[in-house]
Amino acid sequence: MVFGAPAPTRQIAITIDDGYSPETVAGYVEFAQRSGIPITFSPNGAYREIWDRHADALRPLIEAGQVQIGNHTWTHLNLLGRADDAIRADIERNEEWINKTFGITSRPWFRPPYGSHNAHVDAVVAGLGFTKVLIWNGSFGDSTVLSPGQLMDLARRYLQPGTIMLGHANHQTVLGLFDQIQQLITERRLEPVTLDTMFRTSRAVG
Ligand SMILES: [Zn+2]
Repeated sequence: MVFGAPAPTRQIAITIDDGYSPETVAGYVEFAQRSGIPITFSPNGAYREIWDRHADALRPLIEAGQVQIGNHTWTHLNLLGRADDAIRADIERNEEWINKTFGITSRPWFRPPYGSHNAHVDAVVAGLGFTKVLIWNGSFGDSTVLSPGQLMDLARRYLQPGTIMLGHANHQTVLGLFDQIQQLITERRLEPVTLDTMFRTSRAVG
């Protein structure tokens, strides 16, 4: 289970999940393009119509190692209490979509919906090759709608050396804040990286 960086570092990993707001997904993709900041996206295939339109823009960033894609299930249903076969199907369907759309595997990175998991879920997902269960130790708090001030307060609190930062491409609040977030990262001399860079994992793992 992974909460933060494995050793003292100025690195941070920005991890952005779900993606049910078309404007916010587009905004994050544009932010990645213009800033060069590494981002790990963990989209749900349930929102494929939104993500697929950005596949051509994301593929070169993925090939350059600036963007990485993790697995967050297809449906975003809570895994606790579900049958093993249902858990496997939900993750494998998402993996197949990621393979086809972005040209890479999401293994070994798995972020459980709502962060809900237990030892049994971890064993089931490890059986599929998802041996890194991705939690977080900082959050933009934007799984609900926040004001810009609230979101920036959380950014200032949590964007610290070694943080795995959780955000969501679900609400538009962040769209007006990208420049402030980038400025904060620069001022604090933080080094944004993908999970592959932070943990020395590889897209060749398959
Ligand atoms: Zn989520």
